[in-house]
Amino acid sequence: MKIITDEKCTGYSRFGHPERPARITATIERLKNQNEISIEWITPAKISDEQILRAHTPEMLARLKIPQDFDSDTPFFENISEFARASVAAAIDATNLARNGENIFSLMRPPGHHATREKSMGFCYLNNIAVAVLEALATGTKKIAVFDFDVHHGNGTEDILLNREGATFFSVHQFPAYPGTGEKSVGKNCFNYPVAPSAPRETYLATLARALGDLKNFQPDLIAVSAGFDAYARDPLAQGTLLAEDFHWLGQELRLLKIPFFSLLEGGYSRELPELVLAYLKGVE
Ligand SMILES: [Zn+2]
Repeated sequence: MKIITDEKCTGYSRFGHPERPARITATIERLKNQNEISIEWITPAKISDEQILRAHTPEMLARLKIPQDFDSDTPFFENISEFARASVAAAIDATNLARNGENIFSLMRPPGHHATREKSMGFCYLNNIAVAVLEALATGTKKIAVFDFDVHHGNGTEDILLNREGATFFSVHQFPAYPGTGEKSVGKNCFNYPVAPSAPRETYLATLARALGDLKNFQPDLIAVSAGFDAYARDPLAQGTLLAEDFHWLGQELRLLKIPFFSLLEGGYSRELPELVLAYLKGVE
């Protein structure tokens, strides 16, 4: 399998912020010190404004260079525009590799699924997966589904893909929780599967299985996975109840759909993130 990463993505941080560089460095180290799956490491290519502007307004792209925090948990950093662009570039590369039949995971930061068409928020600056979906649709893919298993609702992805021809969004997440959206399905193509805080693990797994079943019925040509690992029972940011083996199961279920797919790292803030990613990748492989 191929993993897209770039150590440069660890080049920004704010003390005490949960979305920290160690999420990536520790995961790379774990994946390099195992021999259960063989990994080819690649770095992201470049991305054009045109590709980003399919998902975002020009004002939002310009805002990334203005040195002011976006909200209380989304700080401004020097060069955050470049970090965000590299993460989106990795998503586009993942799209193309998946369409060529490759097994592919993007291990980058910042994450993206909270970034709306016009606003950076929730640790997210640009919406990596939404840009990738719109790139796929603009370059020949007819039907693409997003499967978002981050414990938080992918409000930004929903905002950008709402009623978009050819795209369907499936999000399984805790509700109520940040960012407060995702209680019900909206529009023609955004399907939300809320799970109550601290719901039993069996309930969480059954909800994931139901969403995957609905996704399969949509019969997409390509699946884009927002892979967040913060529904893990010991994650500090939410009250999910999943275990490492459940992320392995998710990887397996996606593989068994026999539809090309790629995964992008979204959240996941526990110290066990590297083990959770490895478990997922073993399922995907
Ligand atoms: Zn999250």
